[in-house]
Amino acid sequence: QFDIVIVGAGHAGAQAAIALRQRKFAGTIALIGDEPDLPYERPPLSKEYLARDKPFERILLRPAAFWADKQITVLTDTRIVAVDAEAHRVTSAGGEAIGYGTLIWATGGAPRRLSCAGHDLAGVHAVRTRADVDRLMAELPTTQRVVVIGGGYIGLEAAAVLTKLGKPVTLVEALPRVLARVAGEPLSRFYEAEHRAHGVDIRLATQVDCIVEAEGRATGVRLADGTVLPGEMVIVGIGIVPAVEPLLAAGAAGGNGVAVDATCRTSLPDVFAIGDCALHANAFADGAAIRLESVQNANDQATVVAKALTGAAEDYAAVPWFWSNQYDLKLQTVGLSTGHDAAVLRGDPATRSFSLVYLRDGRVIALDCVNAVKDYVQGRALVVGGARVAPDRLADAAVPLKEMA
Ligand code: FAD
Repeated sequence: QFDIVIVGAGHAGAQAAIALRQRKFAGTIALIGDEPDLPYERPPLSKEYLARDKPFERILLRPAAFWADKQITVLTDTRIVAVDAEAHRVTSAGGEAIGYGTLIWATGGAPRRLSCAGHDLAGVHAVRTRADVDRLMAELPTTQRVVVIGGGYIGLEAAAVLTKLGKPVTLVEALPRVLARVAGEPLSRFYEAEHRAHGVDIRLATQVDCIVEAEGRATGVRLADGTVLPGEMVIVGIGIVPAVEPLLAAGAAGGNGVAVDATCRTSLPDVFAIGDCALHANAFADGAAIRLESVQNANDQATVVAKALTGAAEDYAAVPWFWSNQYDLKLQTVGLSTGHDAAVLRGDPATRSFSLVYLRDGRVIALDCVNAVKDYVQGRALVVGGARVAPDRLADAAVPLKEMA
């Protein structure tokens, strides 16, 4: 029995525990995760950790001693399979029942799998956990060629690192451009050109038929037109499925995620949900119910819950931000560009330092900044204030954005 049980020991779960102690919460806290490791940062998995620029110890969210020191009970290798909301109890895969006063559900999501033949062959990898990446790295020495399926951030980052490690990479994207769901066309075209310049073979508007095999191992990817792309390693980066079945089975409202209110409460008594799995109305998405898959959202929702549980309730209203590193390009985004009706280019992509400013109904709603830290920092106020700025002014890179607020 714990006062607070947190299920999922990733970014959101760990931050909830940390924020509760920072806010002097004195009750018992259990942080329960199904991975073997203590909480660690996930973004480096497709960046510095994959590139072997950072050892695992350096991506731990806190040193091992921290958790004992803060009297946070961390249970690793423990998968919660059932929730009894009435009895205030969760049950692990091993059959252990753990009682709670308050439950915080912070389980993120599992990588979406291909539905085609060969999706589970040896050599087919996801990039979600340390274990995924360790398996992939162990196979690299015997890998001649890599096929990446999915031109989202994770697929592109993995392609960049593997290219740097000297592996020939082919990237297959079903839509007509990479990053199609999250960015405007000029950004997509810029990244496609960068990857091609580094030798990545990008295939757009291309459907996968199946993974081909020899002796139980992947040897390549067959496309819908019959072409076979050779590759002993196939990396699948096609999104996640929120890990919410136990909570929905317990009666929580939701579907693609657990539905939460402005303080991250689910429809079940004393149960909150945060992070990638939380379906929330986001002010920066015009109030639409969305899941946000970012460290920002995980941390800020964790703080919202910690405040609600320590008598300082406050609605979630944080401005979304995100980053992605590919080659020497540092992309930083602020706001949410989904639903934009205009996009203004600021600076020249040929200089490899520029921004794309997104507008809806004449108001700035988001920026994507490539090697343009100043725009990122100064553009934030425009997004928060929903500033009305004329497109030709935004396009004038000689005028700092802070002068447009
Ligand atoms: P997670 O961090 O996924 O944590 C959930 C944990 O719960 C996992 O350990 C999971 O195994 C565990 N779990 C699931 N079900 C159960 C269960 N039933 N019982 C017990 N435990 C369970 N975001 C950025 O902002 N910037 C980036 O550059 C960026 N890069 C990324 C790169 C990669 C490769 C990945 C995978 C993600 C990246 N993200 C990035 C997204 C970011 O990491 C996530 O948004 C963030 O980790 C979400 O935190 P979370 O706690 O909701 O989920």
